[in-house]
Amino acid sequence: MSLDGHYDPDNIFAKIVRGEAPSVKVFEDHDTLAFMDVFPQGRGHVLVIHKRADARNILEIEPEALTAVTLTTQRIARAVRAALQPDGVLVAQLNGGEAGQTVYHLHFHVIPRWQGVPMGRHASGKMADMAELKELAEAIALEIS
Ligand code: 5GP
Repeated sequence: MSLDGHYDPDNIFAKIVRGEAPSVKVFEDHDTLAFMDVFPQGRGHVLVIHKRADARNILEIEPEALTAVTLTTQRIARAVRAALQPDGVLVAQLNGGEAGQTVYHLHFHVIPRWQGVPMGRHASGKMADMAELKELAEAIALEIS
């Protein structure tokens, strides 16, 4: 899908927000939701979304909603660092299929990185173990301030 198009209210993240699809939640407030990526590119890979903004990408989202989702992304990045002690934290946000985007509901990736550990493939590969994702989510959630 290109940068042009319409927001699909039945995309997988919209379904997660509505509780129609499962997710391992890390954090939720009035506006935003953070949950574990089920095809993680690294241990502790978290996704952060706005719950109501019907924006597919950063080009479409209203400034106020972008502010909310960005502030939650920073909180998650800090919590990931505190919980997992990575050597680096990658924050990524993809716009359009040519940029690698696969889910068309604006989201930020928070991916902890460790020296010598290669990053996993994007949006593919093995589905994570749910019990492990829950443990990671709990550890990260404990560090959110
Ligand atoms: P994008 O390619 O749009 O930047 O990122 C979409 C992300 O969503 C990918 O990292 C992919 O692994 C993740 N993803 C795809 N389907 C699901 C799902 O059903 N649940 C969760 N938690 N993550 C998903």
